Amino acid sequence: MIQFQNVSLEYERNRPALKDVDLTIEQGECVFLLGPSGSGKSSILKLLLRELRATRGRVSVFGRDLATLRPHEIPVLRQRVGFVPQDILLLQRKTVYENLAYAMRAAGHTNRMVHRLVPEFLERFGVLHKSRSFPGELSGGEAQRVAIARALINQPKVLLADEPTGHLDPEMSIDILSILGDINSKGTTVVMATHDVYAIERLQRRVVTLRLGEVVSDTGGFVAGPA
Ligand code: ADP
Ligand code: MG
Repeated sequence: MIQFQNVSLEYERNRPALKDVDLTIEQGECVFLLGPSGSGKSSILKLLLRELRATRGRVSVFGRDLATLRPHEIPVLRQRVGFVPQDILLLQRKTVYENLAYAMRAAGHTNRMVHRLVPEFLERFGVLHKSRSFPGELSGGEAQRVAIARALINQPKVLLADEPTGHLDPEMSIDILSILGDINSKGTTVVMATHDVYAIERLQRRVVTLRLGEVVSDTGGFVAGPA
């Protein structure tokens, strides 16, 4: 469902941020992209969202070469691929409820669907009681739960998360990781960038390790199981 074939990415000429990356991720997998800062993790996620285009090679999602997407198809891709960005980026002047409702309306859902699904998702992620709060009134863990709920509200087949435990204390990190593990066990493909080795040991899933833009190891073959 996700395929990188010989992908290189250069932000600046002759200074590759990714070098000859080959990577296949099947539907239903949970994959960690592990590597130090600057190793290319976020770049991989940006390619998958078509925020960037590969300098060489081919990136495809759902069998579609992303280089061939037309401008009007990019928002459609981004509805099918949910994203939890590194800096949570909730709309600060909107309530928690409105943050989710806004994402649904942008995807063309009716008010009836919004009224049905938003409370359901907030409940599922344990933040229903924060519906009327503004993002600035949430703890780090709550804000991350809202960001995950928002990324999933349009029911994408794939969820990407960039350092989802980066700003959290260890206890909150465990909580967020178990939520992501649970999402994966219900069938969503999850790709998570992290430099947190501890996180990875807990979930026991496939780990793709990057160094200076190259894949240096891939444990492959972990079958999804309980987190
Ligand atoms: P990671 O997420 O693993 O920290 P990134 O994908 O953000 O790594 O970065 C990979 C490399 O690309 C780094 O050398 C970084 O400096 C470079 N890079 C990232 N974004 C840009 C940009 N917008 N312009 C130029 N270089 C960039
Ligand atoms: Mg990054």
